[in-house]
Order: sequence, then C-alpha cells, then structure tokens
Amino acid sequence: MIQNLRQAMTDVWSMLVGLKVTTTNFFQPTITVHYPRATVDSLEGYRGHIELVATDEDPKRPRCIACGACAQLCPSSCITVRIKQTVSARPVLPPHPDIANLPLEFRQKFSHPMEMDREPKSFHLDYNYCSLCGLCVQNCPAGAIRFSQDVYLASEILEDFQYDLLAQMRGETHSGSRAQNHPQAEPHANSRES
Ligand code: SF4
Ligand code: SF4
Repeated sequence: MIQNLRQAMTDVWSMLVGLKVTTTNFFQPTITVHYPRATVDSLEGYRGHIELVATDEDPKRPRCIACGACAQLCPSSCITVRIKQTVSARPVLPPHPDIANLPLEFRQKFSHPMEMDREPKSFHLDYNYCSLCGLCVQNCPAGAIRFSQDVYLASEILEDFQYDLLAQMRGETHSGSRAQNHPQAEPHANSRES
C-alpha cells in the first residue's frame, strides 16, 4: 500500500515537472516562423552555401586568384576550380645582368621573367556534399569566398545543388537553378587533380 502511494506521488511529481517545462515554453516569445506563410528578417550567423566575393571595382569580377587552396582543403571534394593562366606582356624583372654566361636552362628562365596572371575560368560547387565546415572560407588567401544567406532552398534533384558560382556572381544563373556547363571531362584543379 505504502509502496503504491510512493509510486503514485513520484508519477504526479514527474507530471508536474513536465507541465512546468511545457507551460514555461508556451509563454516564451516565438522564435520560429511558419514558412512559407512567413519568412525571417535577420539571417545573421546563417551559413548558406559558399559564394564568390567580387572585387570592389567590378561586381562581376571575382577576387579569386585561382590558387586552388579551397579545392585542395575541402574535405568533401565539392569545389572544382578551372584555372585560366595568362602571361603578362610586361616583364616583372629586368633580364639577368650576366645572362650571356648562364647555362641554357637558366638563360631561358631569366631572359623573360614575365608576370603570370591567374584567374578562375570556372568555379563549381557541389553543395550536395558540402558539410559547411568553413575550411574554404577561413583559408582563402584572397578573401574571395563567403557563406551566402541563401536559405530557401528545396529540390528533389541533385543537379539543382550543383552551382556554377562564377556564373552566379555574374548574374548569368542563380541559386537553386541547375549549374550550367558543369565540367565533366575537361581538366580542372580540385583536391583530386590540379
Ligand atoms: S576562392 Fe580563394 S582559395 Fe579558392 S582558388 Fe580562389 S583564391 Fe584560392
Ligand atoms: S564549407 Fe567545407 S565542405 Fe563546404 S565547400 Fe567549403 S571546405 Fe568544402
């Protein structure tokens, strides 16, 4: 009899504790919204898929210097950067002063010390595999990548999350649409190949 009474009191106490938690939360201000009837105003701190950052001078030119570090570091191998490399017409250094007496391979090296320009030819992200770890954003030497605030994404199709970030930055395509010209067979720089 006494044991049953103790058990009943324990159950009642447990129910009262649960009711207290429920009641407390019931009167808290609402912090979620019922999408799609409503959307949130502030996305501060939200991590969407990565996107490219443009230069201050030209909103369609990426800051990216095509070093390939983000693709190499990405643990999910979801970044693919194709590199466009051009030799500048202007030499960065004068020819070696004793060039005539240098061995042939050094003569070739020091006679035309030209500046090399590198920029991304294409920059693709397969968001299906991104863990939002932030390694690419933290380690980009040019500050050329950031997390987007693209929060309203939904699709049943994998290809919808394969982004051409360069085209997206230039306004040629947008998030949520299928990546255009996703490289399948052309040479590229990523964590597997450079
Ligand atoms: S986004 Fe940054 S890390 Fe990635 S290739 Fe461009 S400069 Fe290098
Ligand atoms: S956030 Fe992490 S997983 Fe996503 S693309 Fe960058 S390095 Fe890769």
